[in-house]
Amino acid sequence: MHHDWLVVGAGFTGTTLAERLASQFDQRVLVVDRRDHIAGNAFDGPGLGGQPIHHYGAHIFHTTSDRVWRYLSQFTSWRPYEHRVLGSIDGTLVPVPFNLTSLHALVPEARAWAIEERLLVEIGYGGTIPVLKLLEHPDPLLSGLGEFVYEKVFAHYSAKQWGLRPDQLDRSVTGRVPVVVSHDDRYFHDRHQAMPADGYTAMFERMLAHPNIDVLLNTDHRDIVGQVRHLRTVFTGPIDEYFDHCYGALPYRSLEFRHEQRPVEFAQPVAVVNYPNEEGFTRILEHKHLTGMAGDATVLTTEWPRDHVPGRNDPYYPVPRQENRALHARYLELAGDSVPEVIFAGRLADYKYYDMDQAVSRALLVFRKLSPVTPRLRPHLSGRSM
Ligand code: FAD
Ligand code: UDP
Repeated sequence: MHHDWLVVGAGFTGTTLAERLASQFDQRVLVVDRRDHIAGNAFDGPGLGGQPIHHYGAHIFHTTSDRVWRYLSQFTSWRPYEHRVLGSIDGTLVPVPFNLTSLHALVPEARAWAIEERLLVEIGYGGTIPVLKLLEHPDPLLSGLGEFVYEKVFAHYSAKQWGLRPDQLDRSVTGRVPVVVSHDDRYFHDRHQAMPADGYTAMFERMLAHPNIDVLLNTDHRDIVGQVRHLRTVFTGPIDEYFDHCYGALPYRSLEFRHEQRPVEFAQPVAVVNYPNEEGFTRILEHKHLTGMAGDATVLTTEWPRDHVPGRNDPYYPVPRQENRALHARYLELAGDSVPEVIFAGRLADYKYYDMDQAVSRALLVFRKLSPVTPRLRPHLSGRSM
């Protein structure tokens, strides 16, 4: 069968592009994924005990983009959810990002009040400051707080998660979780923050339900090269893999997820508890907080960071630092020269630490620059728009 487009990867990037091409341009699209499910890393099908779980770690939808929010809202309604994370530090559970509550829980009282006073003067109530910036603060009380937070929250977590010190990564990585000068203990502060009411996978099913879209699972791009007729390709997998790592492998980090069921209603007070220090893992997720499921048993997932070995485990995180960006730029140049008909986009192909909304936003932007490869545009086709 002939398709206009081959989309490799059924995650947010590939699915958004497939949906747009099918519904807005009347294009025939074949979506392939080497996994046995759609939804990419956001997959939340049944897990242990039949409960829906986030198979690839906690996925919380949050965005400041009204456009992304409106786009996805065509395929799902939402369940309000505000994410809160606790960190296990010196045996105490405190809010992460580190805030005034964390300060008073971990630092002796007189010193904590002195620091709070200084934070209010220098940064202001409600302000935030990345830990690497706090470390450089001219006020010794505040740089001292920076050293404390660096040691208790970031140094060992980073060694586990990335195999690197925080300063060996782009500052934006630790900047995702800044010190917060308030008692606001929410992990995200975006205008829109919620979970798809029936889960991510159901939302993806609706996005891919268009009659112009065919989906082939358990299918690696390599297995079908030259075998399916199509005119253009969107590739959302690792770009270095597409080119057989010809310039060397781009580093990615992987994770091992260990799932466990316990016969209690809830095992921890919030969805995610971080373990920044002595443990070999980084965090534990309790799914029920995210999925809203009831019941007497609960499923927990522990995340163990791993080196990524191509072919052996999944690449979950690009490693944001200059030398890796330079290598990625070489692959992009090669792509432009050798396969201009292939569009590379997504967290793995762009080698960018995208959240879900950024992956959708990137896909919508790519789509705006496209035109149909075969002129079968019938604008009345779909009632859905943006
Ligand atoms: P992916 O979801 O990775 O999809 C790419 C797909 O391509 C995969 O399904 C893969 O199997 C397939 N593929 C790759 N190569 C091939 C090939 N050669 N042939 C066939 N198929 C192929 N974001 C948030 O906004 N909030 C969160 O709370 C959040 N938590 C996260 C937690 C973890 C542990 C991780 C790893 C990520 C988290 N993210 C979160 C980020 C989110 O997962 C990504 O932004 C999103 O999945 C990116 O979508 P994508 O389509 O670009 O990539
Ligand atoms: N981080 C940390 N300690 C924490 C939480 C985060 O050191 O308790 C750092 C770490 O480098 C991590 C980054 O901040 O990779 C971003 O954290 P986030 O929770 O956004 O990571 P993700 O959910 O994307 O894995």
